[in-house]
Amino acid sequence: MSIVEAIIQIVAPFTCIGCGAEEDRKLCEACTESLTPVSSRCYRCGRASDMSQTCAACQPSTLLEAVTACVEYADLSKQLVRDMKYERAQAVSKEIAMIMAQTARHISQEVLYVPVPTATSRVRKRGYDHAMLLAREIARLQNASWAPLLRRHGQTRQVGATKLERAKQLKGAFRVIHPEKATDCHIVLVDDVLTTGSTLESAAQVLRAYGATRVDALVFAQGSRILSSELL
Ligand SMILES: [Zn+2]
Ligand SMILES: [Zn+2]
Repeated sequence: MSIVEAIIQIVAPFTCIGCGAEEDRKLCEACTESLTPVSSRCYRCGRASDMSQTCAACQPSTLLEAVTACVEYADLSKQLVRDMKYERAQAVSKEIAMIMAQTARHISQEVLYVPVPTATSRVRKRGYDHAMLLAREIARLQNASWAPLLRRHGQTRQVGATKLERAKQLKGAFRVIHPEKATDCHIVLVDDVLTTGSTLESAAQVLRAYGATRVDALVFAQGSRILSSELL
């Protein structure tokens, strides 16, 4: 912690997002434990699977070999994701990354964590990319590497679009900025919320095209039904 951060903390200590208790962090132990973990399952059909691998039946329709989701997208996890985007992003992203790294203990240190970039217009508004904060912190905790290999084409916006429009927007949504780093690499995509998975599939497609041997994903929260307006 820097001196400046330490001073800020004395002047304005954190309050737990969940219960409001004054803490030296944004999420207390009890509230962390109150989050509902997602069981290991195939992200497409929901069938139980080992290490969150996509099941044999779903494999022909996905480029992702495993998608690990940490907690259900509900009350407190929603609040965390929202706060990471709008308030004290660094402190909140640390809490989320810690939970993600905990859930990702089965993932090898040999992987490369790659953040799924937020649509550029949103980053411009906030001035940072939360997926990048997460990937960097997870890699640090896991003693693994990370690299921001993906960029979004244009200003893809999913909000308010129909399912078909969204699919069209996503087709070729990403480009790879350091293709040589993707080659022969086992990549784990990092994102905050898993909805339909089409964003992850689109990212996996371009990374596989550049020779990534395997692409998995690690997401913080997964909901059964998330309204696009909730992700604003
Ligand atoms: Zn609390
Ligand atoms: Zn399946």
